[in-house]
Amino acid sequence: MKLSVPFIPEKSYIQFLLEKRAYLESIYFGLPSGPVLDSRIRFSNMDLPSLAKSLIPMKGIKRYCLLNTRFIRPDLYTDTQFLTGLLDMLQFLHDKCPIKGIVISDFYLVNALAGTGHDMVPLLEAVPGINCMMDSSQKIFSHMEMIENTGFKIPEKLILDRSLNRDPEMLDTMVGSIKAIYPNMKIELLANEGCLHHCPFKPAHDAQISLSNTGVVKENTHAVNQAAGCHGYFHQHPEKFLKSPFIRPEDVIHYEEVADTLKICGRTLGTRFLTRCITAYCQKNYDGNLMDLMDATNFLASFFHLDNKQLGDGFFKTITTCTNVCKNCRICHNLFLKIVEKKSITLKPYGDYQ
Ligand code: SF4
Repeated sequence: MKLSVPFIPEKSYIQFLLEKRAYLESIYFGLPSGPVLDSRIRFSNMDLPSLAKSLIPMKGIKRYCLLNTRFIRPDLYTDTQFLTGLLDMLQFLHDKCPIKGIVISDFYLVNALAGTGHDMVPLLEAVPGINCMMDSSQKIFSHMEMIENTGFKIPEKLILDRSLNRDPEMLDTMVGSIKAIYPNMKIELLANEGCLHHCPFKPAHDAQISLSNTGVVKENTHAVNQAAGCHGYFHQHPEKFLKSPFIRPEDVIHYEEVADTLKICGRTLGTRFLTRCITAYCQKNYDGNLMDLMDATNFLASFFHLDNKQLGDGFFKTITTCTNVCKNCRICHNLFLKIVEKKSITLKPYGDYQ
């Protein structure tokens, strides 16, 4: 299964991606200037021409621009200069190196962009991002109808909600329903987020990121997660990590008949992290601490060593055939106790936090 991976314009990472070219379906990246419109990160010291230059070598790999923040400052939805300027930036990139589409979450923004009548609109796919949480075919059809209505191209692929990774039956049914209406649609799954299963913090977390992207408040989601969110919860219940709907590299094989591509996330953790993940998912094999491959729960790797190999072949079956109602089940708890070593705290290399 090919991978969709973050693009970071660093020379050695670009070289690494080119070496892995045969495994890559697409790369995704945020814009380097203007309001922050992707859901996470801004490259410092980079202008648009430099980004375009760094994207040019990625020939044969689809390029998607992230406009997937949950919301923008309300006045910007009617700010023609902003909307046109944004599409001009995409046009600039597209002229240098074709852009396949935009990854979106905020349909006000999609509609507002379409309303400009800009030449770029019919050239770009609007791909609902992972945080649209597409966990039912009805939800997908509703989003697709809206995209068709805007004039953006309908996407060639759909990224399904991570919760489906742990429900193969539902995943099969949903993919069947999608293909009945869109026979050529490609299906993408998210591999290594590592969030809580059906994370109750997620809507507020995404909103907090977007709020900080508007510039109204400082980015503080990490501290909030430590004080009142998933970090504290995972420290209390580290065994819940096993319930998180990640796909281990070794388990990719179980999804090959139903999905076409795997999304690798973790842009904020830097290129050393991404290189490790992409290598593991290309090889479908990882001999190390599984938490070192996760994005949201990467912090747990400083506290625990979870030997991925010890999870063994039976792990996939266990967590995809259980009820996910853990109240009366100790399977994950006992497995965690059996195979996980508690670490004395170590600091990671600086590059891993960039
Ligand atoms: S129900 Fe049992 S096996 Fe399933 S996730 Fe919960 S603890 Fe793990």
